[in-house]
Amino acid sequence: RSVVTAASSSPAVAVTATDVPGTMKAWAYEEYGDASVLKLDEAVSVPAVGEDQVLVKVAAAALNPVDSKRRMGKFKATDSPLPTVPGYDMAGVVVKVGSQVKNLKEGDEVYGHISEKVLEGPKQFGSLAEYTAVEEKLVALKPKSIDFAQAAGLPLAIETAHEGLERAGFSAGKSILVLGGAGGVGSLVIQLAKQVYGASKVAATASTPKLELLKSLGADVAIDYTKDSFDDMPDKYDVVFDAVGQGEKAVKVVKEGGSVVVLTGAVTPPGFRFVVTSDGSVLAKLNPYLESGKVKPVVDPKGPFPFSQVVEAFSYLETGRAAGKVVISPV
Ligand code: NDP
Repeated sequence: RSVVTAASSSPAVAVTATDVPGTMKAWAYEEYGDASVLKLDEAVSVPAVGEDQVLVKVAAAALNPVDSKRRMGKFKATDSPLPTVPGYDMAGVVVKVGSQVKNLKEGDEVYGHISEKVLEGPKQFGSLAEYTAVEEKLVALKPKSIDFAQAAGLPLAIETAHEGLERAGFSAGKSILVLGGAGGVGSLVIQLAKQVYGASKVAATASTPKLELLKSLGADVAIDYTKDSFDDMPDKYDVVFDAVGQGEKAVKVVKEGGSVVVLTGAVTPPGFRFVVTSDGSVLAKLNPYLESGKVKPVVDPKGPFPFSQVVEAFSYLETGRAAGKVVISPV
């Protein structure tokens, strides 16, 4: 039987399939509401592992704005039943595999976004827990050069960045404006556009303290939205990627025939909105760029927050001021 270490950043805890306990600690809520509905439950049942799933000992997790929107009841009609253990993003170690699992084995270090559809029937037992069960196809091996905390912040945001660029038909030599360049998604759109797709020009918006971050991620032009309004500037772009909710202004600066990707807020034609689909093969495809350091995880410097401070971490995320990802580690 194999013995694996759960998290390099926490005291070594050896976990094997036969050691997996019946219950675990998890953050959960029984009613929709603000961050105060979250309670640390010490005895949640460890999820059963489906035949196409792996059970992961979570080493680190990350928060996304959709966790907050879901908790507020915005997607009630298509949500899983309460009580909910929230969390989409995680990195950890496989401790059990289902009978139909083909490529993963106990001891593998993986990361992923655990709910294939974010809004339609997301998992009731999410990643803000000591263990989570996830389909093999939704995860990938963790790049060796990054730690669990860095890896946990990537999946939902990088899959959104990638899917948006693909849907926009982005390709080498094109220009892009990223609205919200310092956020979880925007920080990865800048890097993928520049390092993976070969953009000719990347412009991005943020407030004054975050302009240096935009530059360090590869933005050629960093626009301070507290001083300049991007739609008053003469530049036009092949693609505008809106991670803020400025769809109406965004369409003013796209070239004729270009694309405007809208993640949130009202959609103005020719802008289009999509909702990310989780896909481990996208992570696997991008792993070489993460391994080489061409694309870097951005973990907000106020974190990582320990597992005991998930409420504080959500309160911080909900200020809308995060730089990169709000990460929970160790779990
Ligand atoms: P974050 O919480 O990481 O975004 C925070 C960032 O937004 C901060 O860096 C902040 O920078 C920046 N920001 C806020 N207001 C502005 C502004 N007016 N102009 C420029 N930057 C601004 O969020 P995410 O990146 O994770 O997500 C962004 C949005 O996209 C959310 O609404 C989220 O729900 C949605 N989303 C939708 C998905 C989909 O599939 N449709 C998938 C993923 C996310 P500063 O402090 O400088 O203002």
